[in-house]
Amino acid sequence: MTGIDLKALITELADTIAAHADELTALDRAIGDGDHGLNMKRGFEAVRAETAALAEKPLPEALKAIGTKLVMTVGGASGPLFGTLFMTLGKELPAEPDRAELAAALAKSIDAVAARGKSQAGQKTMLDVLYPVQCAVAEGKSADEVAAAADAAAEATKPMKAIRGRASFLGDRSIGHMDPGARSAALITRAIAETLEP
Ligand code: ADP
Ligand code: MG
Ligand code: MG
Repeated sequence: MTGIDLKALITELADTIAAHADELTALDRAIGDGDHGLNMKRGFEAVRAETAALAEKPLPEALKAIGTKLVMTVGGASGPLFGTLFMTLGKELPAEPDRAELAAALAKSIDAVAARGKSQAGQKTMLDVLYPVQCAVAEGKSADEVAAAADAAAEATKPMKAIRGRASFLGDRSIGHMDPGARSAALITRAIAETLEP
């Protein structure tokens, strides 16, 4: 995990979100207010615009700055939550993390998201992808396996009933749709995995 290429990471994240923005918006149109793709694209394009400055920073500082940028630009419920994820990763990770340090930092960061969202696993949110991702990382799975676990976890939000976020207003009618934030968490996971092990 040493020597993470921040420029490649930011490009992959922003490209992935841009390529899937319409899909994220469609998911949010079904069980939310239809802005998730736009929210995420705005945020990651704002991060992309700072690539040169971010790539100069040590990994922890870059992650904190990315998190702050996401909080400022994504908006909605997801902005502060994904922002918290990246900011806490920046706070918890050393400059050149090994696998165990990544797993530990991820655990703390996801708990910080849950605290901020007053949410927990099983409520049909991004947490339902983030926790399985943390497990897969802690179990030593390959980057590709971690990304596959994230995709499967996003898929598994379909039969869930939303208990947090806008989708919870729909009650039982939220059942049968994938959670948009879960999908974007899976996309972020795949982008990071592909940068670490192309
Ligand atoms: P908004 O709902 O404000 O329009 P977005 O559409 O950008 O915001 O993001 C919605 C996503 O945010 C949901 O699909 C869900 O995954 C996530 N989310 C919303 N509220 C919470 C929460 N309290 N805890 C965890 N995730 C949440
Ligand atoms: Mg929305
Ligand atoms: Mg909104």
